[in-house]
Amino acid sequence: MNKPSKVSLSFDVDTISLWMGSPDATAFSRGEFGVIGTQRVLKLLKRHNILGTFFVPGLTAMTYPRLVEEIVEGGHEIGHHGNHHESPARLSREQEQQILEDGTKILEEITGKRPTGWRSPGWYVSENSLQLLVEAGFSYDSSLMSHDVQISRCRTGDQWTKGEGVTFGNEVDLVEVPIAWHLDDFPWFEYIPPKGGNLTSPSAVLETWLGDLNYARKYEPGGTLTYTMHPQVIGRGHRMLMLEQLIEEIETMQDVQFTTIEAAASQWRKENPF
Ligand SMILES: [Zn+2]
Repeated sequence: MNKPSKVSLSFDVDTISLWMGSPDATAFSRGEFGVIGTQRVLKLLKRHNILGTFFVPGLTAMTYPRLVEEIVEGGHEIGHHGNHHESPARLSREQEQQILEDGTKILEEITGKRPTGWRSPGWYVSENSLQLLVEAGFSYDSSLMSHDVQISRCRTGDQWTKGEGVTFGNEVDLVEVPIAWHLDDFPWFEYIPPKGGNLTSPSAVLETWLGDLNYARKYEPGGTLTYTMHPQVIGRGHRMLMLEQLIEEIETMQDVQFTTIEAAASQWRKENPF
């Protein structure tokens, strides 16, 4: 049998923080559905005895503290996901640092534990983000795409100049648990007027998600594949059935284990000391 591979089911509990730029009741209500979706996800994970990773913006935690407590009571991991889901693209170093501190404080007050992982809202990582995570003592980031299943160490200080070339920076004491847009439910499923969207059939998503996992099992055993979901997206009925089917398929694979991202990062750190 192949070396065991790992799968992490991760959920970005953005709720209304995703819709602060669209101050209409319908947009707001889409965020509110994230609460319903989270409760559905928690019940599904409990039925299958699986621990997941939930990235929670400070605004979600302050608006729905009981929801965050329910996640913690289920034994799941809580990660940092900004305060108001701010993209680091529009932040100064000082602002980013403040948001990191504020979000940590809010989560720690509710959960009793400092988050050890961070996922960038919108997956934009600024030139300061990773260094700030190192300074704040985070264990891992889960926002980069330089591999799909192999955990690695982050670098800071990469430089590139158009027409000249690239100089790589130095590795830092921060672990990367990689992600990918096609392993994220949002681009497959969400309709945002007037831009539009895909509203893809869940069978196409299931095929894609299992395809990456089966490739990893065959050619990159021992890796960690991370699926990124949003309770306000995956929580719709037909998609919950898809997630249930995904879990049931994975449960038949003798060489695959479910993991939280924190546990996968921690294991990798033990095997690959800085
Ligand atoms: Zn998010």
